[in-house]
Amino acid sequence: MVTGGGTGIGYGIAQSLLLHGAKVAIASRNADRLTAAAEKLTVDTGGTCLAVPCDVRDEGTVRALARTARDRLGPVSLVVNNAAGNFRMPAERVTPRGFRTVVDIDLFGSFNIAQAFVREMMEEGGGSIISILMPDPERGFPLYSPAGAAKSAILSLTRSWAREWGPRGIRVNAIGPGPIPTEGVTVNMMEMASDETSDVFGNMRETLPLRRLGTPDDIASAVVFLASPAGSWITGTLLNVDGGVSLP
Ligand code: NAP
Repeated sequence: MVTGGGTGIGYGIAQSLLLHGAKVAIASRNADRLTAAAEKLTVDTGGTCLAVPCDVRDEGTVRALARTARDRLGPVSLVVNNAAGNFRMPAERVTPRGFRTVVDIDLFGSFNIAQAFVREMMEEGGGSIISILMPDPERGFPLYSPAGAAKSAILSLTRSWAREWGPRGIRVNAIGPGPIPTEGVTVNMMEMASDETSDVFGNMRETLPLRRLGTPDDIASAVVFLASPAGSWITGTLLNVDGGVSLP
């Protein structure tokens, strides 16, 4: 199960899981875009990809998503909390409505998804939950403070869940992606640029120790590692996959 699996990093994660033989359900709000993505993923990988329109903020819809995924694909052993909302705004101008929207999607969305799938994982004897956060979110996220707060809270949940659910065979981890020029994040970044020709990502690239921006595949590889038997003794961890951007 990959939330936000119709675009960007989520799409890359879904594609990689399909290529590794998993059956994959993707879920997000935009039904047309999601269905087109699932069809392309199915054709390109020869696997089974199911599109289930869903707003992760709505707990009833998320419970229905869990039922549909189980009925159509079987027990769900991996959930990737990737769906998120974000916008650039100086902290003093963030409205309660804007703050609530980001926290609702990122934090409550991750909570709703985990709640909806974890009981089934317990019944099945185990599973894996992976949340896509940001590098070291407890350090804050200037100009994106609501997202920083939400991601930091999800890291806390990751650690609480890892301790509580570990004895039931459920591993809970997080990944902190560095800058990856997906369409979603590019829209945000362009708001930062003073003119449309500014090479925001190019400037960022020069500050990275590895001197290259990330790709959805970089994050997908980390998901596959954490979800696979190779990661079977890893839980409660934040794995920064960020070209070294978080180095002190
Ligand atoms: P993206 O393409 O904009 O992905 C966001 C996804 O979330 C979209 O597929 C969107 O689909 C879905 N979504 C938003 N609100 C939703 C809701 N209420 N319910 C269900 N789905 C919802 O951007 P991305 O760059 O791939 O980001 C993916 C993840 O990586 C996010 O968690 C982001 O914070 C994280 N991340 C990205 C970067 C980066 O540089 N790209 C860096 C650090 C972390 P719909 O519009 O159809 O709902």
